[in-house]
Amino acid sequence: MNPIEREACMQQALTLAKEAAACGEVPVGCVVYDASGAIIGRGRNRCLQKHDATAHAEIEAIREASAFLGDWRLDSCTLFVTLEPCPMCTGAIMNSRIHTVVFGARDPVKGACGSVIDLFSEHFPDKAAVYSGVLANESAAMLSAFFDQVRNNPTEEARQKSEDNAS
Ligand SMILES: [Zn+2]
Repeated sequence: MNPIEREACMQQALTLAKEAAACGEVPVGCVVYDASGAIIGRGRNRCLQKHDATAHAEIEAIREASAFLGDWRLDSCTLFVTLEPCPMCTGAIMNSRIHTVVFGARDPVKGACGSVIDLFSEHFPDKAAVYSGVLANESAAMLSAFFDQVRNNPTEEARQKSEDNAS
């Protein structure tokens, strides 16, 4: 996949991140492509909506892709996500055997693909090829705009979330 194709795929994930922001959720979006280049899983953050700390974009997209294929193994798939996966999502990526991960912005707070820790370089059997920085500025700008807005106009829940994220 060339850089232009990667950006086009990431654009799909950014659209989902935008949708999350419009619903007051942290703007992270994720798309899973099968080997033929078709989208088989989509996800965005829904932690507030679902009252569920595990409702991250990657988890949703992996669940949808697995349901579509009728198989928990996604070893022929590529996952695009706007923000570096956290430890939980990196674990889910490993468990689903996804072979390639492409992410946008780095997450210096919770990133588990090189920022805080690089789980793929640890002694786990399931490795994925990881590419970073695809449309990173767009993704980071969306996240900063969201957190600026939350800080200036906070609901209690959103303010809490912002503080958690900043800590
Ligand atoms: Zn996550």
